Amino acid sequence: MKYKRVLLKISGEALKGDRESGLDYEAAGNLALEISKLYNTGIEIGVVLGGGNIFRGGSAKKSFERTPADQIGMLATLMNGIALQQAIKQVGIDARLITALECPKVAESYNWEKSMRHLSMGRILIFVGGTGHPYFTTDTCAALRASEIHADVLLKCTTHVDGIYSKDPRKFTDAQKYEKVSYRKMLDEKLGILDLTAVTLCMENKIPIRICNLYAGTFIEALEGKFGSIVMEEG
Ligand code: UDP
Repeated sequence: MKYKRVLLKISGEALKGDRESGLDYEAAGNLALEISKLYNTGIEIGVVLGGGNIFRGGSAKKSFERTPADQIGMLATLMNGIALQQAIKQVGIDARLITALECPKVAESYNWEKSMRHLSMGRILIFVGGTGHPYFTTDTCAALRASEIHADVLLKCTTHVDGIYSKDPRKFTDAQKYEKVSYRKMLDEKLGILDLTAVTLCMENKIPIRICNLYAGTFIEALEGKFGSIVMEEG
């Protein structure tokens, strides 16, 4: 494995399995197993979990104010984190739940120095609560944490598309897939798979972003570039 430290961004939908929404034990177990295979290569792992299987702030636009709606979304990531932590512990690996939204009885509050120590001691970190602020997404949180922990790569796993396309492949049959795209092209053409704040942060901190479908193969294969797309500097 050419990378020493990775930040995995996993959408909340990965935890819903075949359900319409919510949490599925088997899906959490399968995800933990995949993470353990990657862990066993010796790489250090941080995970940023989404909450879309439970709640997305944007979905409440017409009913609630944005800030409380996003707070529900951030709390959803906490619930997902508890589930993933349990599942990872069940495969025998020490995983710590780290939150940006204070919740001391449930998870450790985010502290950079402590997180770095956990990582160097071989613990998997599950970052939840997003950035702790509304108006952001867990993609941006992933770019932020990847920058802070000096990850060599950010691997974003989606549940619907399998890489970066010129337009949404679910709507347009002539959408063209890109294996490799520059940060600049992602920003200029607003290629929608990742939010633009996240791309900007990764560009500034020179962190390559791999995009793949969670079900296309293993995390190891994804990091080896066997499928998916990559966003990096030109040349
Ligand atoms: N969220 C937020 N601030 C953050 C990260 C997330 O307010 O820094 C909220 C937002 O409402 C978002 C929800 O948490 O819709 C769940 O996150 P996201 O939609 O990114 O989850 P995913 O789509 O990856 O499952």
